[in-house]
Amino acid sequence: MSLQAIKDAIANKKMLCPQCKKPIQKFEKYAETIDAVRDGFNVLEVDSRASRVTLTCGNGDCSWRERTEYWQDYIVD
Ligand SMILES: [Zn+2]
Repeated sequence: MSLQAIKDAIANKKMLCPQCKKPIQKFEKYAETIDAVRDGFNVLEVDSRASRVTLTCGNGDCSWRERTEYWQDYIVD
């Protein structure tokens, strides 16, 4: 679902570059990270799901580019 959220945000120009404040033009290398920890009989299980993506501004001569897990921070409503 995260991938769809990123696609929608970029398509609707709701993901803004922190440097020039213009809509981010593209993303690549989307990946989900899942961590699970199991501790013997006590079955301690920790799942953390996050998705990471490389965002590229792509506006004019702005060279902003970042690989981040916090892409939600760039989405405006
Ligand atoms: Zn920019």
